[in-house]
Amino acid sequence: MNAFTRTKRRFRIALAVTMSLAAGIVTTWFCFVWVYCSAHTQVGVGCGTLAILRYSSAVGGSYTWIVGWKSKQTPLVWIAGACFPTWESGGGGYAFPSDFTVFFPLWPLLLPSAIIAFRAHRTIRRLAREFCNHCGYSRAGLAADTPCPECGRAPTA
Ligand SMILES: [Zn+2]
Repeated sequence: MNAFTRTKRRFRIALAVTMSLAAGIVTTWFCFVWVYCSAHTQVGVGCGTLAILRYSSAVGGSYTWIVGWKSKQTPLVWIAGACFPTWESGGGGYAFPSDFTVFFPLWPLLLPSAIIAFRAHRTIRRLAREFCNHCGYSRAGLAADTPCPECGRAPTA
C-alpha cells in the first residue's frame, strides 16, 4: 500500500468517525442520558452538551432534572449551550441558590477527526496528480492524459 492509498484510507476512516460523532451529538437533542456520580453530582448528555450538575442537597432517585432543564430553558438557550460553555445556578428549578449546572458543548469532539479528514483530503488532491486514482501506481514522468501503465485506466481529474 503506497502513500496515496494509505491517505485515502485515512480520509475514509476520519470521515466515518466525524460523521458518527456528529450523528451521536445530534442524537443528544432527542435522547437524554444522565447518571448519578454521587448523591450531589450528576453528569448528563443532552442538547449537544455534556452537563455537570451539582446539588448541595442530596438528590433522590426520582429526580428528573431533564424535565426541569427542558421546561425552564428556551430553545435559544439550548443552542447557545451547544455552541459554547454555559452555566446556570440558583433559583428556577434548583432547590438551593448554590446549586449549579455547567454545560460543555460536545462539538469540539469533532475537531480531531475533522482536521485529520480535511488534511487527508488535501493530500489526496495533491497525490491524485502523482499517482493513479484507480490502482495507486506512480504516474511520475507521465503526461497528464496518458492512461495508467499499470491498470490502463484514464486519469481522472
Ligand atoms: Zn492504475
